[in-house]
Amino acid sequence: MSDKYADIIIDISHEKVDRPFQYRIPDRLRAQVTPGVRVHVPFGKGNHDRIGYVVDVSDKTDYPLNKIKEITCLDEKGTTVEGDLIQTAYWMKRHYGSTMITALKTVLPVKQKLKQLEKKKVTRCCGEQEIERQLAECIRKHQTAKARVLEALRKEEVLPYELLRQKLNVAAATLNSLEKQGILTIESESYYRNPVKRISERDSAKILSKEQRFIMEDVMHDYLAGKRETYLIHGITGSGKTEVYLGIIEQMIAMGKQAIVLIPEIALTYQTLLRFYKRFGDRVSVMNSTLSMGEKYDQMERAKNGLLDVMIGPRSALFTPFPNLGVIVIDEEHENSYKSESMPKYHARETAIQIASCKGASVVLGSATPSLEAYFRAKKGEYKLYTLKERLTGGRLPQVYTVDLREELKEGNRSIFSRKLKELISVRLEKGEQTMLFLNRRGYAGFVSCRACGHVMKCLHCDVSLSEHRNGSLVCHYCGYEERKPEKCPSCGSKYLLGFKAGTEQIEAAVHKEFPGARVLRMDADSTRTKDSYEKILSTFADGQADVLVGTQMIVKGHDFPNVTLVGILAADLSLNQNDYRAGERTFQLLTQAAGRAGRGDKPGEVVIQTYQPEHYSIVHAANQDYESFYEEEMMYRELLAYPPAAHMLAVLVISGTEEAGNRLMEKFVVLLHQKIGEEKELIVIGPAPAAVSKINDMYRHVLYLKNSDYEKLVQIKDILEEYIRQQELKNQTVQFDFDPMNTY
Ligand code: ADP
Ligand code: ZN
Ligand code: ZN
Repeated sequence: MSDKYADIIIDISHEKVDRPFQYRIPDRLRAQVTPGVRVHVPFGKGNHDRIGYVVDVSDKTDYPLNKIKEITCLDEKGTTVEGDLIQTAYWMKRHYGSTMITALKTVLPVKQKLKQLEKKKVTRCCGEQEIERQLAECIRKHQTAKARVLEALRKEEVLPYELLRQKLNVAAATLNSLEKQGILTIESESYYRNPVKRISERDSAKILSKEQRFIMEDVMHDYLAGKRETYLIHGITGSGKTEVYLGIIEQMIAMGKQAIVLIPEIALTYQTLLRFYKRFGDRVSVMNSTLSMGEKYDQMERAKNGLLDVMIGPRSALFTPFPNLGVIVIDEEHENSYKSESMPKYHARETAIQIASCKGASVVLGSATPSLEAYFRAKKGEYKLYTLKERLTGGRLPQVYTVDLREELKEGNRSIFSRKLKELISVRLEKGEQTMLFLNRRGYAGFVSCRACGHVMKCLHCDVSLSEHRNGSLVCHYCGYEERKPEKCPSCGSKYLLGFKAGTEQIEAAVHKEFPGARVLRMDADSTRTKDSYEKILSTFADGQADVLVGTQMIVKGHDFPNVTLVGILAADLSLNQNDYRAGERTFQLLTQAAGRAGRGDKPGEVVIQTYQPEHYSIVHAANQDYESFYEEEMMYRELLAYPPAAHMLAVLVISGTEEAGNRLMEKFVVLLHQKIGEEKELIVIGPAPAAVSKINDMYRHVLYLKNSDYEKLVQIKDILEEYIRQQELKNQTVQFDFDPMNTY
């Protein structure tokens, strides 16, 4: 039997994740020593007994065999939150590909122990009469600062130190002197940073509809019977999914369990959070990218120490160290942002299921347009599926018109707006109702080209065209490179170097031109640079201070606007033209969501979809709000071409300083696959080839795709390539793995 070795991190909760140390696993402990387990080891020169966490297990060691130390024994304390997280990191490393340290850094977002904040308070320590007496004395002696303190302490027994210092403008020396006199005491107490403003308002539970109650009771019934499942709630926006989550969470809390709620960052608005705060009060916290390190650290501590019941946040909130997790909820389960873009490229849905199984929790997914993955699993019976059909706040589904833009052109209409859309906007303006104009511009750049020779202005460092900005500069959206727009074409000297500005700015201008007097707001990446501008635009619109809101996919999420009765979708098929197997799904989701924004209140809504491909199934089914038919048709296509979820797919992305280096490594990979795997019938290999964007930031990108019905087979291939990479110590070259990618490269 060959030896086994464990990588161990010492004292993970006290020190930053530094580096693992290797120990031999004694034969008697072989079965028990797995990632996440706590063990005792001899450490350092004096071989002091220390506790460490096993983070990895392997057959090899780089140490001389006579020097390597041995694990002493297992720690009695059993599993801990840290242990669970390490187990998760290990799973992510294997399942998605990355080094263990990178995976650990993903699940332990705050490595360093940060100092607790302290707050000073001042407490009165004599009776009211004594205070009155002292106050009179101070006034007589014209000691006005002291008098201000005594006056304040007469009303309030305990006061924040900072309030006295700043608001009442009292010197520290004055307070110290009062302390010496025995009138007050100054004390420090430590506290946690809390990103949530205190809210005293409370909401109580709504009386659930029969359908809502059924879901909640079914989930809880399973839970109490010891069954842990994954549930998918398919329900249009407004059908009451969130109310079901709240009900389940409430019951979990009553049993002393905690909940993690994932919401895409873009939908994580104050309005959404307020609903949770009002229901569960101070024991709710939030994680997002705007929190400081200290705030993040304190939220983790509060969770670990039992001071929180609910954590809300994007992807990373999954790693909240709750001691007694009951449920993980993932709202808008289909969102792309649930997939990490950096290594390990994990998906929150799969990772949530892994964490839940490790901690004995249930998983509840919800969406109006479930991902093909989730729906496929639900149909196969891996998840339990529920459907909510009715909108609870009233409001019927909108009337949808599909306009063929080719016909418009034939009839001589060259405007951005079809005749139907123009007519309906006018009616809205007359009636004082609101319109949303949605530009589907994913993957679309407002590129600049020469009308004489066709030359396209490209970034010097990336294989992409530059976009023109209003200030006259050309910008690369991949690397930030910027240059002034030249007067003449650099290729032929013609002065007809023009931008295709079918962007939100142009639509805004077109609305002004067609409807003078209409009040227009615009929301896109440019107009929402600053932190609050996103919320500000939305609330201005919600307050009725504008008639038309023009925007990109950003406007599809978040707020509810009861006065919006018309949604116009311009160029619905732009996102179909991407060379990407998920383009149809993404288009369907965007159109369905955009259409769903119309008629949320009691007034009926209308939707105009403008497109060059009115017969495309994504557009037809979105117009009919028919998820089921879309699913069937899209699934047929995925099965035919063995795309996820019909099969599994691994993208291997090689990023290199030179094109040749990229080609060379890819050739090596292909040879290696032939040697190790041979002519495996089921394995489909596509490429290697340059990526669609073949250069970013002066680094060349090559991609290789592998498809197989068995995920494990792809993991083995990844392991083979990783092993090879480890031996090479690549210079100026990196390799990334992406399982079931959200987009092609
Ligand atoms: P979803 O999460 O599916 O978009 P919500 O749970 O947010 O749906 O519900 C939509 C609206 O209906 C909300 O304003 C919510 O307060 C209300 N609502 C949900 N369930 C009920 C109920 N059982 N009774 C009354 N109102 C409800
Ligand atoms: Zn030219
Ligand atoms: Zn660039």
